[in-house]
Amino acid sequence: MVDIALAHDRMMIASLRGLSDQLADDISAGGPTHAQIDPDTSLNVYTWNAALRAAGAALAATDSVIAGEMENAFCAVRPPGHHACRAKAMGFCFFNNVAIAARYALERHGLKRVAIVDFDVHHGNGTEDILAGDDRVLMVSFFQHPLFPFSGAEPSAKNMVNLPVPPYTKGMDVRELIEMMWIPRLEKFKPEMIFISAGFDAHRDDDLGQMGLVEQDYAWITQRIKDVARRHSKGRIVSSLEGGYNLNALARSVEAHIRVLAEL
Ligand SMILES: [Zn+2]
Repeated sequence: MVDIALAHDRMMIASLRGLSDQLADDISAGGPTHAQIDPDTSLNVYTWNAALRAAGAALAATDSVIAGEMENAFCAVRPPGHHACRAKAMGFCFFNNVAIAARYALERHGLKRVAIVDFDVHHGNGTEDILAGDDRVLMVSFFQHPLFPFSGAEPSAKNMVNLPVPPYTKGMDVRELIEMMWIPRLEKFKPEMIFISAGFDAHRDDDLGQMGLVEQDYAWITQRIKDVARRHSKGRIVSSLEGGYNLNALARSVEAHIRVLAEL
């Protein structure tokens, strides 16, 4: 809980906890089984623990990678995190798993620079809200625009490299943008560790977005991140699942991502 507060307002954490407790009381009194935070985001009695464990997985992975027990890690968790803002849960997200882990690496492990790569189809507005202006962090992302949460076209700080792209953008165009816009910034920043907000909803089979990525694109992106990590970060990567809603495409894309991370 102390670590969650590295990225979230204490009042926000307490109110989620309160909402969860209230829900448990209501259910035993015969009330509703869900509480709605916004039209996309509802919680049931299991949500609080699931959200804590999702964030905890990213922290455990961070500990393990920094300790050298493994070079990189993938956290197959839900709920996702990148829409969760400092003071607000939204967009399926409760705690910002990647932002919490990035701050944890800086504050608890004493790293000086960490990078966040977000390739979810949606703008990681929560991560930006929490980390914009924190010059120990460089965040690079692309996202379909306009699309939920309809932000990010105007980056809010110098440490945010936002690439809004139109619907129907294909993998080849995304690769070119990454090569031109992400890689030089990452190379210059020399992160000591890289976190990935690994959303797979930019896949062409995913109906939540209208982009055209396929498994090979995720493998390519992962390899490029890995190249940077090898050069500057002792290979250290912690990747955490964000979106991805076509379960077949999600499974194939996660497999492609993990095969590159684990060199399988
Ligand atoms: Zn998404």
